[in-house]
Amino acid sequence: MTALLEVEDLRVAYGKIEAVKGISFTVEAGQVVTLIGTNGAGKTTTLRTLSGLLQPLGGSIRFDGKPLNGIPAHKIVALGLAHSPEGRHIFPRLTIAENLQLGAFLRKDAAGIAQDIQKAYDLFPILGERRAQAAGTLSGGEQQMLAMGRALMSRPKLLMLDEPSMGLSPIMMQKIMQTIAELKAQGTTILLVEQNAQAALSLADQGHVMEIGNIVLSGTGAELLHDESVRKAYLGED
Ligand code: ATP
Repeated sequence: MTALLEVEDLRVAYGKIEAVKGISFTVEAGQVVTLIGTNGAGKTTTLRTLSGLLQPLGGSIRFDGKPLNGIPAHKIVALGLAHSPEGRHIFPRLTIAENLQLGAFLRKDAAGIAQDIQKAYDLFPILGERRAQAAGTLSGGEQQMLAMGRALMSRPKLLMLDEPSMGLSPIMMQKIMQTIAELKAQGTTILLVEQNAQAALSLADQGHVMEIGNIVLSGTGAELLHDESVRKAYLGED
């Protein structure tokens, strides 16, 4: 079986600085795969390259059997790869409902879109309660929910989440992680970038540890959770 996403020897640079130095990994349909690692390891750069926002220096990306190299970002969304970016990037002056609508900008099926907006409200009831409110008035955690809901509006085959727990209170973080578990149970395929290694690895089928542009360790979520070097470096143990 070929994987939904196959990344091989991917290299990405900003000018002379090589931020991603030849990484390879796959994501199978139905899996949650997580990339963990310290600040500046190249996780966000990897997601932005998969989305077509950055062009790789080398290597190959295959998604759903097709090469993605050189394909513009909007076409990549149309192929089924959605990205909930770091820092959320919701539209603060638009309402919650309008933000969700924008996530479906490539779709024409009004009935299906309405159904999926309802699904987002089922997943995150607070968004339904506040649907007519400007998105900028939401709390950080609620904005994160909106960013995830919006990414789901393109009915992606693969959902990429960049640091969904960043800046959230422990309770809000737990809620977001529970939702990711719920999406996984529904069969959503997810590539998750997280600083919170404990939470991310607990959810993940596969995990990869990135350090300065390289994948230095890979394993199942459980293997990495029990790995001594991971425990020391990322789980705050001596
Ligand atoms: P974080 O968790 O802090 O977001 P990360 O693992 O996602 O870290 P990246 O944001 O991918 O790391 O950054 C990887 C490297 O690329 C870092 O050294 C960073 O300083 C550099 N970098 C990121 N964006 C740019 C840019 N626009 N121009 C130049 N260098 C950049």
